[in-house]
Amino acid sequence: MNKPSLLPLDDALAQLLGHAQALGAIDHVATMQADGRVLAADCVAELNVPSFDNSAMDGYAFNCQDWAATQGILKLGQRIPAGSAPSELQAGHAARIFTGAPVPHGADAVVMQEDCVVLDDGRVQIQTPPKPGQCIRQQGEDIAQGQVVLPKGLRLTPASLGLAASIGLAQLPVHARPRVGLLSTGDELVMPGDLAPHQLPPGAIFNSNRFFLRALLERLGCVVTDLGNLPDKLAPTQAMLAQAAQQHDLILTSGGVSVGEEDHVKPAVQALGELHLWALAIKPGKPFAFGQLRRDDGSTAHFIGLPGNPVSSLVTFMLLVRPFVSALQGVSSTTLQPFAMRADFVWPRADKRREFLRVRRNAQGGLDLFDNQSSGVLTSAVWGDGLLDNPPGRTIAVGDMVDFIPFTHWMS
Ligand code: AMP
Ligand code: MG
Repeated sequence: MNKPSLLPLDDALAQLLGHAQALGAIDHVATMQADGRVLAADCVAELNVPSFDNSAMDGYAFNCQDWAATQGILKLGQRIPAGSAPSELQAGHAARIFTGAPVPHGADAVVMQEDCVVLDDGRVQIQTPPKPGQCIRQQGEDIAQGQVVLPKGLRLTPASLGLAASIGLAQLPVHARPRVGLLSTGDELVMPGDLAPHQLPPGAIFNSNRFFLRALLERLGCVVTDLGNLPDKLAPTQAMLAQAAQQHDLILTSGGVSVGEEDHVKPAVQALGELHLWALAIKPGKPFAFGQLRRDDGSTAHFIGLPGNPVSSLVTFMLLVRPFVSALQGVSSTTLQPFAMRADFVWPRADKRREFLRVRRNAQGGLDLFDNQSSGVLTSAVWGDGLLDNPPGRTIAVGDMVDFIPFTHWMS
């Protein structure tokens, strides 16, 4: 049999993203509920934030010229708690003011209470020479009216929800969640809970991919239907894929996508639609398939087949599925910037394929390598806190600078 030619990762990613049109539907969700969703329109500020000059401290508001004229001893006038509307500052006076309260007209500085002395006659003495503007948060210093505060295509974070709320937005327009049908394949797989470990028949293993793939999809904001596990037979594989395509935007499978006679996913996809690419020049993660499945109404669902080996499945999810489902949600930028880090280990054997090694940052600011880099050893992905992206043909010596991509980048 001819060896398939392996596709470079960047070419595969470009093909996937070329097919990933953002889903048309837009939801209007409460800002409180929008964490992790992707904005479908710019958020534009209808006001300045802060909308008025306010005090950054609990202290006293006054005018710097008055301070100079009175040798720093000012009469105490109004009291301005947060949420109140002050009247104009009288000449020669200081106003008691609290954090977030509006600075009265006529005042141009605030001094914190720790730097003041209230005299027996009720006047307040401010010893340190003030600078105009000190301890005042200027109107519009965070956000100017008319400014795009959060751009279309942004995946919302807790901080961005707070920013949306600060300009008064109670609801946000977001892209619909992709509906993903998730399938594992393999006659050897048993669901945890169905059998106790000591009851596993010879050759059987517990299904682990189903667990992390579902969690990863959900973290990315997908609505996941767990369609269970497929036997290693063509007819049921084809029937399930045909049915699943009707209701989902993406069908994601793991396993059964290699070249053995027990691998039925590829022929099933070819029978039901189109297979665009298969087999990548990466390690782990070579057996990877992408295509489309026809629906009864003539439209199509996307199909991605991940390798069965758990680490391969996890790594290809991160490299390809993550940007793909983000693009389905309208995320404007799906590329990740690796960090340059120092390798504190040797990697003496170069590989023809681009490798993604499981590594962990150490306290000395370098990277350690997990001992066993086999694609079946899922422990490496729990021990590690990211991947080292190693170009084809490259060995690594202690002290070399390498590209590191933390898992936190991929999974959020
Ligand atoms: P396959 O690609 O189906 O040949 O599977 C490759 C390897 O991954 C085999 O050792 C399978 O038993 C294993 N594998 C496949 N699917 C899963 C899964 N869902 N959970 C754990 N291991 C799996
Ligand atoms: Mg299999």
